Amino acid sequence: MDNCIFCKIIKGEIPSAKVYEDEHVLAFLDISQVTKGHTLVIPKVHKENIYELTPDIAANLYKAVPAIAKALKEEFTPIGLNTLNNNGEEAGQSVFHFHLHLIPRYGKGDGFG
Ligand code: 5GP
Ligand code: ZN
Repeated sequence: MDNCIFCKIIKGEIPSAKVYEDEHVLAFLDISQVTKGHTLVIPKVHKENIYELTPDIAANLYKAVPAIAKALKEEFTPIGLNTLNNNGEEAGQSVFHFHLHLIPRYGKGDGFG
């Protein structure tokens, strides 16, 4: 998708702080981290939201998630982690390329929730 920010990140047209990459998936730090290490995990194919994901795309994405979560745990030593996915403007989605938020947690007052 030509005007999609995340497709531009995949193509390297917009810089990002990469956390993980494989054939199907890219993970990078959120530009506006709600907590330290806040990461977005995206499929490399443009799919707007969860309703557009095929089982294969979802499987490839979630296959990578435990390793990404463990890497964040080692790097940032949080005491917990939330995963979150917004679908539709009314649900808080602002970038219309499916993404899973991984939000490391550090206790009360860490900025999230
Ligand atoms: P949403 O609100 O759609 O669930 O989440 C979109 C996320 O994308 C937001 O947390 C926002 O900070 C992040 N974001 C938007 N533009 C960019 C960008 O250009 N680079 C990065 N790394 N994150 C972005
Ligand atoms: Zn896209």
